[in-house]
Amino acid sequence: MKGRISAFQSMGAVDGPGVRCVVFMQGCPLRCVYCHNPETWERNGGFETDTEELVRKILRYKSFISRGGGVTISGGEPLMQPEFCRDLFQRLKAEGIHTALDTSGIGDLQAADTVLEYTDLVLCDVKFHTERAYKEYCGGSFRQVEAFLELVKRRNVALWFRHVVVPGITDSKEEIQALHAFGKGYPSLERIELLPFQKMCMTKYEKFDMEFPLKDVPVCDPETIETLKTYMSDLEITGLTNRKRYDKISSR
Ligand code: SF4
Repeated sequence: MKGRISAFQSMGAVDGPGVRCVVFMQGCPLRCVYCHNPETWERNGGFETDTEELVRKILRYKSFISRGGGVTISGGEPLMQPEFCRDLFQRLKAEGIHTALDTSGIGDLQAADTVLEYTDLVLCDVKFHTERAYKEYCGGSFRQVEAFLELVKRRNVALWFRHVVVPGITDSKEEIQALHAFGKGYPSLERIELLPFQKMCMTKYEKFDMEFPLKDVPVCDPETIETLKTYMSDLEITGLTNRKRYDKISSR
């Protein structure tokens, strides 16, 4: 099945457990103010590939990714191309490869459910947990995210939350405790990852002649992440401080 992707990373270490191949899908309906991948927004950007070709490529790395790792589909928003994701995951499951879906949860629910059938782990980017903030900072509806998470709950798919910590916006104790409390509604939630806000994407925005909405906001320091982690105690909490988090490697 054909689809459009933005990039392929062969040996990723920050998008799910273990060493993973990461497929960055093209197209996203949101416009998060801190987006580090604006090149993925346009549905017709990136380049065309097909699932058969991708699986052939991924199998070259099988000895590396099969020891506790696997394949993650990220984006952009993977659920903009659900048929492609489902087909890729179905093929990978047939090869015994672990599958993770890194998504905001925004998309056609019926189609998303067919992807979940072949998904071992959902990495859900819970950016904000109120309708007002989600609309203001991402241009979408948090109710859609909640509806997607209900599907995850119904299928009992392992779940991680990911949350970008932005100074002055999402870095308060109240914010993190509310996220933690929200997570308690999902029995399969295993982990909350706190991702420090960075600005390495500024050059991309300059290249596209666009203004980065948070250009004047300071980056999030590692100490803040450590402090916020102490507010959540009964889940495995991970604060990613690896600056390579946002470095995609394209090997088309
Ligand atoms: S969902 Fe991801 S790719 Fe889409 S705008 Fe938000 S941060 Fe960017």
